[in-house]
Amino acid sequence: MCERGAKLVIFVSAECPNSCYYCPVSPERKGTFANETRVTRPEDLLEEAERMDAEGASITGGEPLIHLKRTSGMITLLKKFYGEEFHIHLYTSIPPEKKVIELLFSSGLDEIRFHPPDLKNPGRFLPALETSADHGMEYGFEIPALRLSMDIVNIVNETSAFLNINQLEYTPYNFRRLIKKYSFGEGSGSIESRKIALEYARLVHKFHYCSSGFKDGVQMRNRFRRMSRKMDRLYEKTDDGTVICGFVEGDTVKLEKIMKRYGVRYILRSGGVEIDPETALKLAGRLKRKGFNVSIIERYPTSEETVVEVIPL
Ligand code: SF4
Repeated sequence: MCERGAKLVIFVSAECPNSCYYCPVSPERKGTFANETRVTRPEDLLEEAERMDAEGASITGGEPLIHLKRTSGMITLLKKFYGEEFHIHLYTSIPPEKKVIELLFSSGLDEIRFHPPDLKNPGRFLPALETSADHGMEYGFEIPALRLSMDIVNIVNETSAFLNINQLEYTPYNFRRLIKKYSFGEGSGSIESRKIALEYARLVHKFHYCSSGFKDGVQMRNRFRRMSRKMDRLYEKTDDGTVICGFVEGDTVKLEKIMKRYGVRYILRSGGVEIDPETALKLAGRLKRKGFNVSIIERYPTSEETVVEVIPL
């Protein structure tokens, strides 16, 4: 699912009791998000799942368990709406008590992934690993490849847990701290971190590795493709998952009247309308004479509609 970009990523909140030096989370991100969409109502969560044709969800934060009610509520909602096969996993840096795991399990959680901050004291998670196993949940550790921890290797092998290793990535929020300790090549992943991941691969029985290149080049791109496939036929869809369309900028009330008069399919956006690129080329002269700016744009298919290229006509 991860490779197919099929999991909805839910950020319950940016709040966390820890302050890991490698934390990639923006402290400015307030509230709950599903992918790039702010969630204030249950409908927002379901609409975002629909937008990408999600087959499952990944629940993260910050620390999702400090908002346990919100977290379990979202699990229940998604399971109710999409059914049992909608696979949900959750990350936590807190060793949850038995009753917390039971609540998550009864809400429908399928898998739990533990992250000991800075890889310290992984033994604290042993009771939670056992409870998760007793309930038939999938369970394991997910950590950035900071260094080799033989404590983690021994625990996962002894408890038949999986170990997911992420290549350490720099983001706008952690790079100042990371560049003091790690070196980076062309991408956003640390070179040492990849070597450390390979050491784990030799020692751990159930092992998965996620490189930063895989996250950007495969996982995100495939999610964008899933989203673009579901968009109106007026958009041209690229292999990278972006969409191309014409954008007419100006007063939307006037623009709607004009588009209706011309018999043109359009989608209302803030500051203008989007139309198919061919029609934009045909109508550019007329629209510009009426005082509108016309361009061909390439943008992400996400709710943020991030524009990556503009060609003014
Ligand atoms: S536990 Fe996770 S969310 Fe919390 S500070 Fe560490 S990396 Fe960030």
